[in-house]
Amino acid sequence: MKVSKDKVVEIHYTLRLDDDSVEDSTEGEAPLPYLHGAQNIIPGLEASLDGRQAGDKYSVTLTPDQGYGAYDEELVELLPLSELPEGSEIAEGDEILSIDEEGNEMAGVIERIEGENMVVNYNHPLAGRTLTFDVEVVDVRDATPEELEHGHAHDPYADEEGDWDDEDEEWDDEEEWEDEDEEWEAEEEDGEGDKPTA
Ligand code: ZN
Repeated sequence: MKVSKDKVVEIHYTLRLDDDSVEDSTEGEAPLPYLHGAQNIIPGLEASLDGRQAGDKYSVTLTPDQGYGAYDEELVELLPLSELPEGSEIAEGDEILSIDEEGNEMAGVIERIEGENMVVNYNHPLAGRTLTFDVEVVDVRDATPEELEHGHAHDPYADEEGDWDDEDEEWDDEEEWEDEDEEWEAEEEDGEGDKPTA
């Protein structure tokens, strides 16, 4: 079976940066399952997998625009320390979450503290980097209707956290909560995944 839209694909990968350092790898761990065509993984990696099949091994090098985007100087901001919640203890290198004007969460890293201000970098840590992936296609299968509805693969290797990735998406929608309950029941019957305790 070939990798195409709506297939669940399991891959092993090692991500190397332009200085040949290893940034991330599934080596020694379970492979990563994802839903092909659903933008679950970075665009250049997803495109490189199109038409592959189980057993294929290859390397692909992605420019920043196929990866995490260009580095944007405008995403480095000088913010007053007084904007932090009272009593916050911060240090250079800490990650902080900010909410922008549209209510989106933005993850940033405190690069420096300068007097009453802090320099926060909201670029993705891999923005502007050229990425090389060594990929092995482990498995290709049809997605289940449930996976297609959710827009992501259900991880057979997940621990007791189970289908944790749904939680954020389904807070605000009662109907989807019901779907999630059904999913938990189904997974319990299959002996896969545990329902999280409240
Ligand atoms: Zn799901």
